Amino acid sequence: MARMYEKVYFGDTLVDSNDANLSVGSSAVLYGLSVYTVFPVCKTAHGLAAFRLSDHYKRLVDSAKIMGIDTFVPDWSFERFEKVAKELIQANSVTTDVFVRATVHVSELIPGTRSRGLTTTVSMFIYDATPIVPQTGARLKTSVWRRVPDYAIPSRAKVNGAYVNSVLARQDALDSGYDDCVFLDCNGHVCEASAANIFLVRDGVLITPDTSSDILEGINRRTILAVARDMNIPTVERVVDLTELYVADEVFLCGTSAYIAPIKTIDARDIKSAPGTITARLQEMHTSILHGTSPMYQHFLTQVG
Ligand code: PMP
Repeated sequence: MARMYEKVYFGDTLVDSNDANLSVGSSAVLYGLSVYTVFPVCKTAHGLAAFRLSDHYKRLVDSAKIMGIDTFVPDWSFERFEKVAKELIQANSVTTDVFVRATVHVSELIPGTRSRGLTTTVSMFIYDATPIVPQTGARLKTSVWRRVPDYAIPSRAKVNGAYVNSVLARQDALDSGYDDCVFLDCNGHVCEASAANIFLVRDGVLITPDTSSDILEGINRRTILAVARDMNIPTVERVVDLTELYVADEVFLCGTSAYIAPIKTIDARDIKSAPGTITARLQEMHTSILHGTSPMYQHFLTQVG
């Protein structure tokens, strides 16, 4: 279990974690009506830096817009978001790599099943940067549960309540002795893992499901595609079949909490190499970007401590 740091930003102020509470009557609790993002803060030579902070802010705003709960935006400019992140890091005397979770909760009491015009509360808290999947050869199982489609609950909106779908799928994988799941869409195509995007390599080409494949538009996914292009690795975003994963040369997951996780087995089929050459190169570059040792990608970092 990851540890939550003591000071939490809740509403308009920093409070102790025990005092950052929502009512049992709020839509956030009743329906999971909240949207969130998690960004990493890592140690660099110049202090602590947040990765792609403005992209996380933008995705949070977009998620809220899709759900019709974006009334917080006029009060929450990116500048305020950044300032609060810095205050939070300082208040918790952070000295190591951590994850920061920022959430917009619908805190209105018993409004019924609707979203627009309701009271929201913003929270931000820090927890241990523990990877959610093994970093040296994770094992995946195709989920018995399908990914909720865009026409039911859009995956590009990071909605708390939608994560019961991920919980069902990952628990199914854990129950069967695997580390995580491969989520398929309603047509049997590959989407992603429970909380990470998926990539495969075939004949030197880096392939990942496109953004119309019921995936979360991951910020690390976007980063990996850009970095691969900079490394002259050919990339393709398209519909992916499950059996393509079985015969891939390399498969990896990527995400804030998965980092870059090489996959060694899917449904009892061994992946050719884990990590393969391309995965290992991208893994190394990802680590160096997060920790500020890659001169080309300094613009992804915001000093927060
Ligand atoms: N897909 C899902 C369902 C996720 O929850 C996450 C984690 N946020 C990702 C993909 C990866 O997204 P990111 O790279 O922005 O962390």
